[in-house]
Amino acid sequence: MAVGPKSVKCIGLVFHGMLNDHKPSFTLKPFNTPPTEHGEILLKIRLCSICGSDLHTMTGMRSEPCPSILGHEAVGEVLIATGREEDSLRPGDRVTFSVADSCQSCSRCRDGIPQKCIHLFKYGHTLLTDGTGLNGCYATHIVLRKGTAVVKIPADLADSEAVSANCALATMVNAVSHVTETQAGARTVVIQGSGLLGLYGCALFAEKGYGHVYCTDIDNTRLECVSKFDGIPWNTLTGDCPTSLPEEDSVDVVVEVCGDPKVIQHGVRLLRPGGTYILVGMVTPNSHLGITGEQIIRKCMVIRGIHNYSPRHLTEAVQFLARTSHRYPYTSLVSQPISLMEYEKAFSLAKTRRYQRVIMQPNMNS
Ligand SMILES: [Zn+2]
Ligand SMILES: [Zn+2]
Repeated sequence: MAVGPKSVKCIGLVFHGMLNDHKPSFTLKPFNTPPTEHGEILLKIRLCSICGSDLHTMTGMRSEPCPSILGHEAVGEVLIATGREEDSLRPGDRVTFSVADSCQSCSRCRDGIPQKCIHLFKYGHTLLTDGTGLNGCYATHIVLRKGTAVVKIPADLADSEAVSANCALATMVNAVSHVTETQAGARTVVIQGSGLLGLYGCALFAEKGYGHVYCTDIDNTRLECVSKFDGIPWNTLTGDCPTSLPEEDSVDVVVEVCGDPKVIQHGVRLLRPGGTYILVGMVTPNSHLGITGEQIIRKCMVIRGIHNYSPRHLTEAVQFLARTSHRYPYTSLVSQPISLMEYEKAFSLAKTRRYQRVIMQPNMNS
């Protein structure tokens, strides 16, 4: 039986697509108090962030179904959770949740890639007409479906530290899970791109025992954060790097997180025979790699694509943050929270790329 809260005022920021002048069209829309079915959770969004993929949608680089509510990185507070005894959730719990809702029984879910479920539903990427319509995080509330993994946020982690756990961090936890633990200091990784994925990657590989964690970019401002996350900044445009550079054919793992296929040739040259190349960032059709079968074969190269993650990676992501929040300045990566009502200001700030994430607080005044 559906359960409805007595008086919850819900407002969502609805995306209507791109206008003729290449600007995105948004309106704030009130929603009826959503009833929740067995297994569903009504969350109040405490904090949400503007992920790179949301920015791509708003600038027309990527198309999403609309009208819809964008946004998938968030921390929320449980208002109603029925039929989720296994999660022992209570009203008031702070949680994050998997960006994908999956059936948990199809062949892909059983194969360990629930993010590719045949019946996949993704938050922030779904039409308003699907379910309650409260399907994205740029809203005061969201309704989580039955197959969504939910992870509680430990009390000593701030919302601003955990807000990107359910996209950027969990994705990198998935990427790093495909390389082996190593004796302290014995291995080298090159991470291509010093955005949020790259910085999380530095910290994750350092914890995994990699002695040399290079992080490349062509923008010195972005590279400034790298050493704070235990990476070695390497400007591949100028060649600037505070330590000696890795030689060709010497790097154990290369991870692409910058979204630009032009870096691939460089990565292939660096990779040692038998090394692993992990591709994470190039989620666009314009991503021809420009390498040959011969290069892959002669290097005995392992190439792995990583898209999103499964629930265990989200659990590990939150545990990683809890373990390392004293060590890394996670809160320095995000802006001051901006009210959802001021979304235009937030989107403009996000476009400047001054912060790794601009964050919005949908319930700032309630
Ligand atoms: Zn499935
Ligand atoms: Zn994202």
